[in-house]
Amino acid sequence: MTFESGSQFKSAVKNYAICNGFNVRFERSTENIVEVACHKHCPWRIYASWGPTREAFVIKSLNDERMCYTDPTNIHADYRWIAEHFLETIRRDMNYKVVDMLRELQEKYGIIVSRPTCYNARSLARKMLQGSLNEQYHMLPCYVAELQKVNMNSTFQLEVEHDIHYSLARFKRLYICLESLVRGFLEGCRPVIGLDSCFLKTELKGQLLSAVGRNGNNQMFPIAWAVVEGENQPWFISLLIRDSGIVDGCGWTIVSDQQKGLENAVAVKCTTCEGFQSVIGQMKTLKAEPAQDLLEGSKSSSRGSSNLLKSMTKLQV
Ligand SMILES: [Zn+2]
Repeated sequence: MTFESGSQFKSAVKNYAICNGFNVRFERSTENIVEVACHKHCPWRIYASWGPTREAFVIKSLNDERMCYTDPTNIHADYRWIAEHFLETIRRDMNYKVVDMLRELQEKYGIIVSRPTCYNARSLARKMLQGSLNEQYHMLPCYVAELQKVNMNSTFQLEVEHDIHYSLARFKRLYICLESLVRGFLEGCRPVIGLDSCFLKTELKGQLLSAVGRNGNNQMFPIAWAVVEGENQPWFISLLIRDSGIVDGCGWTIVSDQQKGLENAVAVKCTTCEGFQSVIGQMKTLKAEPAQDLLEGSKSSSRGSSNLLKSMTKLQV
């Protein structure tokens, strides 16, 4: 087994000791040599140094015989190690409970740590995640510029907001629509668009909006997506309508999971008087009375809902 460096080897030895329930002490630890022994003076010992060509840090000798008992307290399972261990868990749930951390450490590794250690570990993990998130958001302008360079006709709209002194820029929203996907959608899919949104459960919050079509195999076909602050579907819908050539919505079917924001945005952008009159005209030829009720209902807001219900019931007969 080889390692990239002495520090990587030391980290691996610490992990091994924690997983096997014993403490180790580093008897020699230089840039070129690392020698580790069991903390209880039993025969367990390992020695590693650089290989002949210094390409890798290599284990030169190992005495794997252990005479000591398993120790539930481990000096290497400090808050830094615990933070790194729970990093992915805390990324998914920033409020992951300390009692769950304590239980998992005991069940998985047989080690007992104090509550304050776990609190410190969780705080450190949050800082690491938030710091890395901030750095990634700061890199977005470069990312968008690179995307634009290789996708000339696609839409990448990044919006930021500035503080009063224009010294700091803060991410507001990002819309991505690849031209090749729109072309594939228009040429190979039915005129049906599914809209959906979900909340981002990271520290920075926001919403992920997506628009998908259906391809010939009845599978989802991505069209566009966006990360927005709070509720901002109209912005997403207006860009989507422009990029996909929906224009006034005639001949298109928009499917959403009844989220009012999306519905309202689509209605504002796509519904036309001509389209409404056309539907009413078709209804008149089928059922004259319900159509009249609907028209009357639209004139009177107080009677509108009851008329609409009656009309729908009559149309179903
Ligand atoms: Zn030992």
